[in-house]
Order: sequence, then structure tokens, then C-alpha cells
Amino acid sequence: MLPVFAARADGGIIEDVDGNRLIDFGSGIAVTGVGASAEAVVRRASAQLADFTHTCFMVTPYEGYVAVAEALAELTPGDHAKKSALFNSGAEAVENAVKIARAHTKRQAVVVFDHGYHGRTNLTMALTSKNMPYKHGFGPFAPEIYRVPVAYGYRWPTGPENCGPEAAAQAIDQISKQVGAQNVAAIVIEPLLGEGGFIEPAKGFLPALSEFARDNGIVFVADEIQSGFCRTGQWFACEDEGIVPDLITTAKGIAGGLPLAAVTGRAEIMDAAHAGGLGGTYGGNPVACAGALGSIETMKELDLAARARHIETVMKARLGAMQEKYEIIGDVRGRGAMLAIELVKDPSTKEPNPEAAAALAKACHQEGLLVLTCGTYGNVLRFLPPMVIGEELLSEGLDILEQAFTRI
Ligand SMILES: *Cc1c(COP(=O)(O)O)cnc(C)c1O
Repeated sequence: MLPVFAARADGGIIEDVDGNRLIDFGSGIAVTGVGASAEAVVRRASAQLADFTHTCFMVTPYEGYVAVAEALAELTPGDHAKKSALFNSGAEAVENAVKIARAHTKRQAVVVFDHGYHGRTNLTMALTSKNMPYKHGFGPFAPEIYRVPVAYGYRWPTGPENCGPEAAAQAIDQISKQVGAQNVAAIVIEPLLGEGGFIEPAKGFLPALSEFARDNGIVFVADEIQSGFCRTGQWFACEDEGIVPDLITTAKGIAGGLPLAAVTGRAEIMDAAHAGGLGGTYGGNPVACAGALGSIETMKELDLAARARHIETVMKARLGAMQEKYEIIGDVRGRGAMLAIELVKDPSTKEPNPEAAAALAKACHQEGLLVLTCGTYGNVLRFLPPMVIGEELLSEGLDILEQAFTRI
């Protein structure tokens, strides 16, 4: 928490109550990709507010919810018949994906991964890898959750080239031997891991797990809550290796800052739960749905996926040059407008350097650039600029980051 109380924000600047202006490389944690006051979001949500704020979709449905479900069916990977259910938060979407997978498979076990993050409710705490601060003192946790290795190229003992297939073999072996594939309801994975350190599973890992899931009747769930909605330069990160998940969870970037989340997936899986088994008072609130339609309209009109790819080109060039100069940058990674640097004490030992990440973040904040840290070891500096950020702000932000290295 910064000592900055926001007064207004758009697609690149957060202005505080004292008139200070911060360049935004955080987007409210990957939420306001279209900006924090995008015209289409404000217009549509305002119009909806004037019409009605709420009826409860389970009681009297409304068109906005259906329109969001139709957009999700169109935009998510795969051309099979799809259905969606809408919720309020990412954690709630993940919980419901697990409920749906269990109802469909009549199995209980859920497989998740090292460094994975899926939320802060009881079930999603259990799915989340990192103890501090997410789980510490908050147990007991839900049973039947099994954690297996992820293909973390930078830290894989035999090197990034071998990582994808080797990690997949290890994960599949652990699932088969320790859990039994026939007991597994769902495999839940972030196609580009967020809180765990912006880890891109090494090539081949996701396809191998998705194939293993298909062969064993396991529901493959892509948690795209952070990586979705143009963030990685495509509508969804799993498109990069042609993965078609059975279920996909979305939230964060979906509605331009309004609270909305979704589970979208194969119609026959989505229909597995009994009538009334899924729901919630506010899920798919009409104002949030209007915001989502405005956000999606903006992403299409401005082609924000292409814009995210452009941000990657600009930022990776600058970050790469910084890596040449500053040896504490062990790794530069990520895709689109979801990029990070991993900081180490010494590139040969790769010992994590959380102190440098904290000092850099602080130095950036002091000079007017908002950046976030993440990672299991707290040693990753992540960059999530709004996709609509202007060229000059982007480059000014990178200048501030570079100066921060000199200062620390
Ligand atoms: C943020 C996040 C969640 C949880 O979303 P909330 O809206 O905070 O509940 C789940 N999964 C991933 C990958 C996330 O980044």
C-alpha cells in the first residue's frame, strides 16, 4: 500500500488527492487494461445504472449477462458449444470451476502447481502455493488438493531447453503415482503464472498436461484471471501453444475495473451441476456486465492485443539492455503487457534478491512510477501497464526504472 490516495485515473496516470501524478505500470493488478475510466466502460455502465442496478440474474434475467456470455463464447479458444456462468471475483470463479469439474467427473482430486496462485477463499487458498502472506494462520485448508512441479525454465536444473518435457513428465508421474489419474476431477493451471513470478511454463509443458487430461477424462482448467483479455498479446495466454481448455476462468481484465468474473467452458461440462447448484446474489451484476461489454468493445476497437505485443517489443528491448548493464537482472520474461524481471544476488548462483526488488519498487514509486513485486521468493518486479498507455509515458516509465537501478 502506497501513501497515495487516488483522486482520478485513466489509461496511464494515477493522480492523487495532492495532485501528484504516477505513471501506472500496475493497472490495479492487471485489471484496467483499457484504462481506469475508459469511455465505453463509463458510458455503458452509467446507462445501465440509470436503468436498474440489480435484479438478481437467478430471479429475473437480463440481456447484459447473456451478451457477456455470448462474447466469452466467441472470444475464448475452441469452436465447441460453450456456456458461461458469471460471478463477482476471480476466487469465486475458480471455486465454481472446481465445483463444475467435480460434478461432471464425479471425482474429487484437484491438481495444481508449484508457484500457482488462485485466490484467497478457503478452497482457493488450498490451491495457492505460497504460504506467506496468502495462507499463514488461515488453515485448515480444503482436502484433495495435490501440488506438482511446474516448468520454470529459469530455475530448471537441466536448463530451460529441457524444462518443458522434463517437468511435464515429472508432473504426470506424480499425478499418476500419488493421486491416480482416475481420481482427478481437474487440473487447474495459469497458462502464464501471475503472483508466483510471471513464470511462462516452458514450451511443451501445457500441451503435454492438456493431452494427459484429455486422455484421462480430467477437466483441464485454464485460470486466465490475470493473463486473459489481451494482456499477453492475444485474447488468452493459452492460445500461444494452441491449448483449448475445457473450462477457462476469467476476471480482472474483463470489465474495465468493475467486479466481474466468469467460468466459460464446454456446454456438457457446464451443465453437469444440478439446477440451483451454482449461483450467487450478485453474480453477473448488470452494471458490471455493461462494464465488460464496454471493455470488450474497447479491446476490439483499439486492437489491444496488438497494442500489448507492441508494448512487449518496446519494453523487452529496454529491459534486455538493462540486463546487460545490471547483473542482478537474472531473467527478463513474460509476454505482451505482462512482463517481469527476476532479480538475483549473483547470476551464477541465481540466489533470489527480494531486497533489490523492494528497493527498486520503492525508488520507482518515489520518482513517480508505480510498479509491483511478485514471486514466491519476492524477487520479481512485474510490469502490467494498461494496454492503452501512450508511447511517451511508457518510455518515461522505463527511464524512471533505469534511473532506479543507478540509485540503488
Ligand atoms: C487475482 C487472481 C485470482 C483471484 O482473483 P480475485 O478477483 O482477487 O479473487 C485467481 N487467479 C489468478 C491467476 C489471479 O491472478
